Amino acid sequence: MVEDKLTIGIMGGTFDPIHNGHLLTAECAAYQYNLDKVIFLPSGNPPHKTEQKITSAENRYTMTVLATINNPKFRVSRLEIDRTGLSYTIDTVKEFKKIYPQAEIYFITGADAILEIFTWKNPEELLKEANFIAASRPGYSLSKLGQEIYAAYRNSIYTLKIPSLAISSTDIRQRVKAGQPIKYQLPKEIESYINKYNLYVEE
Ligand code: ATP
Ligand code: MG
Repeated sequence: MVEDKLTIGIMGGTFDPIHNGHLLTAECAAYQYNLDKVIFLPSGNPPHKTEQKITSAENRYTMTVLATINNPKFRVSRLEIDRTGLSYTIDTVKEFKKIYPQAEIYFITGADAILEIFTWKNPEELLKEANFIAASRPGYSLSKLGQEIYAAYRNSIYTLKIPSLAISSTDIRQRVKAGQPIKYQLPKEIESYINKYNLYVEE
């Protein structure tokens, strides 16, 4: 029965750290598209980013678990952080399809990430394999999608207007480093975790 088909959202990100913009995006997507669950997928430690100091996958994973603990629909996957080598979204989609063969899969991204989709590996195959939910994000225009990308892939990209939160992990890291407040931009448990383990104090 089509009605009983499991619908799963996958919310990928670096989550360095996870913040209210990520949580709001996932919640709005789950409501709007009737998702049974949203799986947060912290990225692995990308080998090409060795120059840049990136918080360990374990710390990013733990913060993601803490931030999602109170939402019964939210889950966290270790799939990418446990994988060695480069992580490509197309491989991730295929793995999730193996785990949930009957499910309809929706990748949830912000406007900035979806606009980069054609720089990802095998974008055409990716758009055939999964649906995408592209959420509005301050500073990025979703209407650009209406031109080439959206026109060609109308059937697999859904746009989603969410209340604007101009929050980013980059800004949070800079604020911590500068000793500025981050309260109300992310769950208080994450703020405690950042303080306890001295994250983002030095670059
Ligand atoms: P960074 O500044 O380190 O890139 P970020 O805040 O962009 O961090 P990511 O982990 O890169 O966070 O983003 C994961 C996903 O969440 C991406 O698809 C991104 O577009 C989306 N996203 C992040 N912040 C917001 C926001 N404030 N509103 C809507 N979508 C967001
Ligand atoms: Mg980002």
